[in-house]
Amino acid sequence: MNTKNHNQKKTRLRWDKKKFSLRIGTAITSAWRLGVQLGFVLTSIILGLMFANFVGAALSTTQGNLPERPPGVEGYLPISGFMGLVDWIRQGELNEVHPAATVLFILFILLSLLLRKSFCGWICPVGFFSEWLARIGQLIFKRNFRLPDWLDFSLRIIKYFLLAFFAWAILNMSADSLRDFIQSPYNKISDVKMGMFFLQMSGVAIGILISLAILSILIHSFWCRYLCPYGALMGLFSWMSPVKVRRDPVACTDCGICEKVCPARLPVDTKLRIIDPECIGCGDCVTSCPVPTALEIGVKKQALSPFQIAVMTLFIFFVGYFGARSLGIWQNNLSSDDVRYHINHMDGEEYGHPGR
Ligand code: SF4
Ligand code: SF4
Repeated sequence: MNTKNHNQKKTRLRWDKKKFSLRIGTAITSAWRLGVQLGFVLTSIILGLMFANFVGAALSTTQGNLPERPPGVEGYLPISGFMGLVDWIRQGELNEVHPAATVLFILFILLSLLLRKSFCGWICPVGFFSEWLARIGQLIFKRNFRLPDWLDFSLRIIKYFLLAFFAWAILNMSADSLRDFIQSPYNKISDVKMGMFFLQMSGVAIGILISLAILSILIHSFWCRYLCPYGALMGLFSWMSPVKVRRDPVACTDCGICEKVCPARLPVDTKLRIIDPECIGCGDCVTSCPVPTALEIGVKKQALSPFQIAVMTLFIFFVGYFGARSLGIWQNNLSSDDVRYHINHMDGEEYGHPGR
């Protein structure tokens, strides 16, 4: 066997030009999905660097304008986004502390309503890294491990409990106390505190992250499947999505490949339609199916290709992004001096969580 073939077999990596798809481990992923995921991972890295530059400038200068704060980092503040939406509905105006968090929260819900949990399958960097950790597990162990059904079901409920807890806590706040929280010193720099949490992680936090990474290598998408309340929320909205995976039982040869590659462990090979909230709309089942007409993802009889899903996902995202910018509901209203003051005092008592 020549070196090239040996390496291909060893890494189980294959480009299929006809399908324009990439195989690593067991699943075939469309290159369009991979491209969109990598685009959002890269965007997150750039936003993180811009934000670090912004915070660094606030800490090291005493006057003058700060570099631009990238509001996109608020995509990592989903609870703030949820609070902002409830507050917007109650008060009739969007808060100016973290407006982008609410814009992105609404945008991702809209995506779930239209394109299933495409936020998890196409956009979320955590989902992307979880998938690739699982692929490392497939390369090492030739598979990902599956928990017994009773344990899998019990653990999957955790994310819904977490979601219910956050929803209960937010919806139970009065309109005034919700607005007070949003305007609190703590919330004004919650993005900075989140950044500091990752930059100055405690031993316990590092241990938890490493444990989650190891669990994600062993069990596909451990965090997403069992613990992520954001994914749980997106799943509930995705139930209403007109986009579904459909199987033609006449064309299907019952090979079972679609069920094996499904990251959500859904019984694609035995159902006529997949409407499960765990389906992330990745299309890996369709891309992997050896029979061209047996499986499709789309609306009624209109199948959607990975390219079309990629275009629709990006179109919705960028319409929301540019729309928010042009309406002036993207950047927050904190001046450079406000930011400098808050960041330089963030260890003070008034910057603790208001609910403590
Ligand atoms: S991969 Fe295709 S042919 Fe095989 S079971 Fe699934 S739908 Fe049927
Ligand atoms: S059913 Fe298909 S589209 Fe849905 S998560 Fe499984 S592989 Fe992805």
